[in-house]
Amino acid sequence: MKKLIACLFLSLIFGFRISEPVIAQSKTTTSEQSFSTGLQENRWYKNVVIYNLELDTFKDSDGNGIGDFQGLIQQLDYLDVLGVDVIWLAPFQPSPRQDNGYDISDYYGVNPIYGTSGDFSEFMHEAEKRGMRVIMDLVVNHTSDQHPWFQEARQSMNSKYRSWYVWSEERPKDWNKGMVFPGVQQETWTFDKKAGAYYSHRFYRFQPDLNFSNTEVQTEVQKVMGHWLRSGVAGFRLDAVPFIIEDPYSDRENPTHRFQLLKELLRFIGWRKGDAVVLGEANVEPGEEVEYFGKEGNGMSLMFNFYANQHLFYALATGQINEFTNALQATKSIPEASQWANFLRNHDELDLGRLTEEQRDEVYQAFGPKKNMQLYDRGIRRRLAPMLGNRKQLELAYSLLFSLPGTPVIRYGDEIGMGDDLSLKERNAVRTPMQWSNEPNAGFSEASKTDRPVIDEGQYSYHQVNVAAQRRNPNSLLNWTAKMIRLRKECPEVGLGDWTILDLNSPHVLAIKYDWKGSQLVMIHNFSKEPQQVQIKSDVASGKKLVNLIEEKENTVNKEGVYQFNLEEYGYQWYRVGGVMRN
Ligand code: BGC
Repeated sequence: MKKLIACLFLSLIFGFRISEPVIAQSKTTTSEQSFSTGLQENRWYKNVVIYNLELDTFKDSDGNGIGDFQGLIQQLDYLDVLGVDVIWLAPFQPSPRQDNGYDISDYYGVNPIYGTSGDFSEFMHEAEKRGMRVIMDLVVNHTSDQHPWFQEARQSMNSKYRSWYVWSEERPKDWNKGMVFPGVQQETWTFDKKAGAYYSHRFYRFQPDLNFSNTEVQTEVQKVMGHWLRSGVAGFRLDAVPFIIEDPYSDRENPTHRFQLLKELLRFIGWRKGDAVVLGEANVEPGEEVEYFGKEGNGMSLMFNFYANQHLFYALATGQINEFTNALQATKSIPEASQWANFLRNHDELDLGRLTEEQRDEVYQAFGPKKNMQLYDRGIRRRLAPMLGNRKQLELAYSLLFSLPGTPVIRYGDEIGMGDDLSLKERNAVRTPMQWSNEPNAGFSEASKTDRPVIDEGQYSYHQVNVAAQRRNPNSLLNWTAKMIRLRKECPEVGLGDWTILDLNSPHVLAIKYDWKGSQLVMIHNFSKEPQQVQIKSDVASGKKLVNLIEEKENTVNKEGVYQFNLEEYGYQWYRVGGVMRN
């Protein structure tokens, strides 16, 4: 009682409310938490750093202006030292590359521009040698229209492959609805003269949708997965999941999803390789993820948290955390085997489609005010560094990435603060060559002209922003990022623990507490451009000292019986309760 009166008194005097957990701690005991009563399961995907790259723009070894497997092999030590555990490799199979390889024309091969199957195997071997896993994009919602299956399907009604695609004799009533790339795409059903029928394509017209109602298609996709699992990949980044499982003849704007199909694909993967993961691209509303993760956790192991990401950008744009906190809470309850993948820039587009129009406008104003920075009436096509514009806010964003509940995913080049090239079309703006040094072509290629132009002027040119220079500078973003990755790995509580948002009664400061096997962390982030002061009640950390993991500082309970935190503008602090890990 005395304590309560003292708290009320303090809050009246200082005008703040002393923190209390606002979310009840989850009662479920994960297998990791019940360590003492059983062995830890191999949920390796919960505590790794994933790095996304495209061969085209990473490193060119043969001077033809396009990156390749041998180039990537040359740079594996760089990724290893940075702290990358998993490489997410964008599509590398044969493709006309009208959509950066997301238009595949042979699922079993390697596009010769990147090397041979031998080069692929060498890459897998070299990655494994360094303890790195590889997950690859699995793009099976559609093929390229150049794929022999589609070419045959067009020929006649009697072709074996006709029913591998989705056709309609008549023009469907919603032929111009449900475009994934509005403004660029005009329709989702296109008439094919040769076939004499309309084919379905949720994406560009050169990407005809495969017909997943056909069991032959399902079997073939299983073969594709089996093939690549056999070649050593640790799993897949599954492209366009909701579209794969939708009934293509249902309402384009409110389609029916057939989750059984997803279950079957995942069951197959599980049988072929027990610890393989699937990282799903499914931009869904809170609550809908349950079906994708599987009610019993037998669905996808990882899913991008698009919902939280969009609200994170809203918080970064406005300095206000309320909507972001709500988004974290709305996506909190997931099965114990499941994990969110967090990211700052998704690989090619910052999709803001789940914000309200007013919220989106605020993010546009802050991060993409010009029309040519925006795309598809819903997103932004810029890189992280030019969007945020200042080092302090960049660090805040990265500190969040590494300390939010889930597994962090980094986009290549963001670790050095690369810029974008808005003269390139659509999402290619963020697909410029990696800037390795200030040598010609950013040290990416010895070609006289690279396939993708390097950024060679302005603040983000390779003369200003490159790996070689940042490697030598102890204060560089690259060295700072490597340090944060190391710290993240020393904090397994983030990937495996239970978490609680502490109510600081501050519109700007987010505090998350993690609990895992008796160890606890408190992570604090100030979204405001002004310094902030916040307080946490002593019993949140049982009055123990809080040891700052980034700076040589401790925080102890003060005379008023609370922990007090002073945060600079965009400040971030990571604390371990009591200073030691319990296991
Ligand atoms: C990927 C895009 C790609 C599209 C078509 C998406 O969801 O993220 O990069 O263009 O699928 O495969």
